[in-house]
Amino acid sequence: MFLGAGLGYAFSANAGFKVVALGVNGGVEEGNLTSYLIRSDSQTRYLALDAGSVLPGISKALAKGSFPEVTAQNSAPFTPQGAVFRQLISAYFISHGHLDHLAGLIVASPQDSKKPIYGTNDTIDILRQHYFNWRVWPNFSDSGSGQRIGTYRLTALRPGQRASLGTSGLSGVVYPLSHGGVSSSMLLVSNELASQQQETFAFFGDTGADKQEKSRDLGAIWRVLGEEIKQHRLKGMIIETSFPNGVPDAQLFGHLTPALLLGELKNLEQAAGGAGSLKGLKIVISHIKPSLMAGADPRAEIMRQLEEGNRLGVHFIFMQQGDSQAF
Ligand SMILES: [Zn+2]
Ligand SMILES: [Zn+2]
Repeated sequence: MFLGAGLGYAFSANAGFKVVALGVNGGVEEGNLTSYLIRSDSQTRYLALDAGSVLPGISKALAKGSFPEVTAQNSAPFTPQGAVFRQLISAYFISHGHLDHLAGLIVASPQDSKKPIYGTNDTIDILRQHYFNWRVWPNFSDSGSGQRIGTYRLTALRPGQRASLGTSGLSGVVYPLSHGGVSSSMLLVSNELASQQQETFAFFGDTGADKQEKSRDLGAIWRVLGEEIKQHRLKGMIIETSFPNGVPDAQLFGHLTPALLLGELKNLEQAAGGAGSLKGLKIVISHIKPSLMAGADPRAEIMRQLEEGNRLGVHFIFMQQGDSQAF
């Protein structure tokens, strides 16, 4: 038994999280789509947060040294890429049903090991009805139409209710997000330490701002995360910024710009105790939409616009595919 056996380390009082970026973009190019792995420092196995690009991201991360625990020797009979995929990823959380958040999981499914897939009722329904249905792909799940191959246990999470997530040693609570008429979600991940030492991390699926979406979903989430910050539990978050400033509301399709994210974070600051309360909070910016226009660099533009407007003192992080980061 590889990886599970020799590598579990003892509980550490300052356990945080490790995040590996398998894919960071929002659509357009298929090799680098939204997917992150998260692991508690006291555990060996990861939970995947979305699965737009999986195997290409694992290759990149291995090349960058982001999985030092994996070698050709301890991967046998699998390749290191196969060992990470089959043995280190213990479960998936899928934020919503869009292709750029789950394509990597679908195409790699014939070689995956048995594991659960978590999501809201909506997301699980989309996987069952529109992907694992023997029409677009064989049914690798344990429910739905036709023969059930059973690789994946499709598990719907009830909003606001805590659930254990596979063998990752993590638990999570899912909250609804509004994404241009599509139902998306945020997962608040906790490591299962003694409750007074519990630490949390927030992963946001695609979302628009409350005003544009005519929604209160983000407002409700800021109240939850405000409390996490007051209790010194929140270690960081991953949230989208799909487009640079200046995209008209009608063309946002349920996404954020730097100005809209900064406006929403102002509401989080309010909920977390007012001015200065977000200082140093680590925020990974995800889901930037690449441009095919010559000379355009939306990534650089978004980075500059976020830093220019950063009067909150938060720490914006721009992970590239294959990078790993401690929280
Ligand atoms: Zn997306
Ligand atoms: Zn989406």
